Amino acid sequence: MMDLAKCIKDNESQAISTLQELISINSVAGNPVTTKDGEVYPFGQGVQDAFAYMLKKAEELGFEPENVDNYGGHIDFGKGSQTVGILGHLDVVPVGDGWDFDPFSGANHDGYIYGRGTTDDKGPVLAAFYAMKALKDAGYEPKKKIRLILGLDEETAWKGMEYYLNKAGAPDYGFTPDADFPALNGEKGIMVFEIAKKISKNPPEGLMLTKLSGGSAPNMVAETARAVVKSDKADAYEHIKELAEEYRSETGYKVRTKGVGKAFEITTEGVAAHGASPQDGLNAISILFDFMGRLSFANDDVNVFIDFYNKHIGFNVYGENIGCALKDEHSSGLSFNVGMAGFDGEAITIVVNTRYPVTCNQDQVYDGIMPYIDKYGLGVVKEMNQDPIFFDPDSPLITTLMDVYKEHTGDKESQPLVIGGGTYARACPNIVAFGGLFPGDPDIMHQRNERIAIDRYLQMIEIYADAIYKLSQEDFSIE
Ligand SMILES: [Zn+2]
Repeated sequence: MMDLAKCIKDNESQAISTLQELISINSVAGNPVTTKDGEVYPFGQGVQDAFAYMLKKAEELGFEPENVDNYGGHIDFGKGSQTVGILGHLDVVPVGDGWDFDPFSGANHDGYIYGRGTTDDKGPVLAAFYAMKALKDAGYEPKKKIRLILGLDEETAWKGMEYYLNKAGAPDYGFTPDADFPALNGEKGIMVFEIAKKISKNPPEGLMLTKLSGGSAPNMVAETARAVVKSDKADAYEHIKELAEEYRSETGYKVRTKGVGKAFEITTEGVAAHGASPQDGLNAISILFDFMGRLSFANDDVNVFIDFYNKHIGFNVYGENIGCALKDEHSSGLSFNVGMAGFDGEAITIVVNTRYPVTCNQDQVYDGIMPYIDKYGLGVVKEMNQDPIFFDPDSPLITTLMDVYKEHTGDKESQPLVIGGGTYARACPNIVAFGGLFPGDPDIMHQRNERIAIDRYLQMIEIYADAIYKLSQEDFSIE
């Protein structure tokens, strides 16, 4: 094989301009589009455009791309009875406000490429792609098939990857460049469930809860929450206003009140964070219940739920007061996030997202919380469970990726990680997450001003080239 480092270098400027071009395609998932010819783009025009761009680019550079009915596809390099898979995605999350640069321009500023998808996940996908290109340019003839798999709805429902894998088959092993370096050897189990309490009809007088809402998604720490109350007593609202002032000065938490017609509104503001790490945020729903614990509602069902929330959830983010603070030797403890809250006039509900340790299972979580649920006359509705995945840190897949990472970064300290997030490592067996975020670099995925340092991007190409090379050796085995 010719000098791989030189081949990487020769492609640097192309790798950068391709990233800028791919970033400039707005690939936030949209509704399905049917063309005049009856072709369906299941994830919308933008995602399709990004996908078509990649397939075309692959063909131009001499690879063999394949489109699996617009649900996903791959770019192949080399042949062999085994397939090394690299699973990435081309869809991005919505951009939100407050960007310093157009999020779909690929602006190059101060050594960074800015834009939605630079780190999640177009940058890492292209780093793997240009790693394959450099290996090809260097004359490498792999004895295994190297397959870059392009997912199209990772940020939403994963239906595309499911369809793709059913039709194209799963690779034998590999990695997904869609999380952190070094290698991740485990991902916690993820559960979403609802806790609800039926609220009897309000009594005719006193303080009533008429509306409650909070949060925007189970996997986010709620940034705002709101309750609307009503009372027939003349001084009730003035009293709540005073209590809110008191609460604010005692706790420093943001609580606001205002009259809305004949009703009275209480809003709270916390700090958003990813639901897998609720300790990084401050839950606005918890602030709201904490404050409402100071009020006395005429309907005792409401008081009971508030009491339950404050005693057993409150500001705790590890499930420690609700019987499910599970731990094991491999993972950090269970995380417990209340992502949403609501009241529709019939029941108060909260939606909980927990991430449980890799050796635990969902029944242990339910077994832990049920005594509290029963005690307060609540109900639980199971919504979703993804079992954890776990690789022995000493397994060849992990040690090989760890060695590659260490050699290229000089970082001998970092250990394989177990995370609470969910990646395509869960989509098929023998895939682990590997990069693209380096330890200590700020995590700005899904946030405004998402960007990638150009030197990190180029370093990623080197790392992935080496990893793909080692994993595609004839004698490499995951056993
Ligand atoms: Zn991603």
